[in-house]
Amino acid sequence: MDSKKYKTTIGLEIHAELSTQTKMFCNSKNDTEEKRPNVNVCPVCMGHPGTLPTVNKEAVKSVLKVGVALGGKLADFTEFDRKNYFYPDIPKGYQISQYKYPLVTGGKLGGIELTRVHLEEDTAKSSHENGNYSLVDFNRAGVPLMELVTEPVIHSAEEASKFAKELQLLLQYLGVAEANMEKGEMRVEANISVSASDEFGGKVEVKNLNSFRSVERAIEYEVKRHIELLENGEKVAQETRGWDEGKQKTFSQRLKEYSHDYRYFPDPDLPKLYLSEIPEFQRETLEKELPGLPWEKREEYTKKFGLKDEDAEVFVRATVWGKYFEDVISHFKNDKDLIKLASNYITSDLIGLVDCQGSTLTIKILPASFAQLMVLIKSGKLSSRAGKDILKIMYEKGGEPEKIAEKENLLQKSDEGHIKKIVEKIISDNSSVVVDYKSGKQAALQFLIGQAMRETKGSANPEMLKKVFQKFLK
Ligand code: ADP
Ligand code: MG
Repeated sequence: MDSKKYKTTIGLEIHAELSTQTKMFCNSKNDTEEKRPNVNVCPVCMGHPGTLPTVNKEAVKSVLKVGVALGGKLADFTEFDRKNYFYPDIPKGYQISQYKYPLVTGGKLGGIELTRVHLEEDTAKSSHENGNYSLVDFNRAGVPLMELVTEPVIHSAEEASKFAKELQLLLQYLGVAEANMEKGEMRVEANISVSASDEFGGKVEVKNLNSFRSVERAIEYEVKRHIELLENGEKVAQETRGWDEGKQKTFSQRLKEYSHDYRYFPDPDLPKLYLSEIPEFQRETLEKELPGLPWEKREEYTKKFGLKDEDAEVFVRATVWGKYFEDVISHFKNDKDLIKLASNYITSDLIGLVDCQGSTLTIKILPASFAQLMVLIKSGKLSSRAGKDILKIMYEKGGEPEKIAEKENLLQKSDEGHIKKIVEKIISDNSSVVVDYKSGKQAALQFLIGQAMRETKGSANPEMLKKVFQKFLK
């Protein structure tokens, strides 16, 4: 099979639940942590007839913020539409969404062009796990749901999951969504087509991918399936497919629906919004409220501080560590070597010691003490071995590195008089090795230095030992 002659095209549709206090069109609590079913509900989000929705301003603002961060165009005018379909998780018979006038159009993320970002309501949650009946939980019904659609400009599974990860990070930085995929707070749909010519092949949409891994696996699976069909001279059916996590396979769900199937029309219960007339929705106002964005942080870490890409990525993703790193290096007056040293010790040693999953870091090592440790290592007062040992002690008990080093006798002895004494002792204890060295065996010197290091419990400066030995043995 010659898979090189085929071109893969992917467009993503990503849904994210916004972390507002209340739901999209009523004041029921928006709480993804609630485990008891049907407690955060009211007649509006239960879809009772005769109730009236009202727009959640914070949700609109959240999507506009995303739009500004992505460099998209914010709508002057917008409205909400009814997307009509029947399903037990949407008892009104329609979902309130946006069709003709999305809040945001265009923009880019990580070089990928975006089509639009709009706002809608999440559906209730059905579960069919209990044999011959199904249950519906309305806690999720009416939760504000942002939908972002990309142009069909992605060409590999890896690129697709990278995009989704970057969007998740952006939403977290903006504080508009937790976007935890395991909890279903962010869900990815991948549109995939494969073609051997310039024309697009049949497009398949794989729904509700709940992890970055399944985004990649599902796309890889589909691409392979399409190529096999095309190689056999068959056509790829336009359809909606699901992803079976257990079998690691996609399966056909239904033939593709088209937008005209939904009979979209503006929801007469909701006001039309003239966004450009609302002061707090102005681009300039929103821009002022934006925090540092992930790609700006990435640039700062690599360009300004000279960090390796991998280290920068650790700090960009785990912002608690990014903050710790910044607190540490605030003591360095821009010394690049110290900054890099700190970055190395944090990413390869400290993070390994601290089991930190939440958004707060509780650690006994004050940033100032960590900074001091770096200075001791850089100046040669501590060997890197001793540095790591002290780091462990500081992690367990706190404290200041210099005091710990003194107490544990780990400061490298660079004082000549002391070193000379040790060298003399080692030379008189190892006369046969000394003879070997004098007859030209270089390895003998290494042995003597090793003995001296042992004598000083690793606290002597090996460079200095070498010099003194050479002087004595000339
Ligand atoms: P539809 O009307 O079939 O839902 P849209 O044009 O609205 O299609 O696009 C939905 C998603 O499908 C978008 O993310 C878009 O980038 C993607 N898409 C469109 N055409 C293709 C294609 N030929 N191959 C892969 N993805 C595509
Ligand atoms: Mg679609």
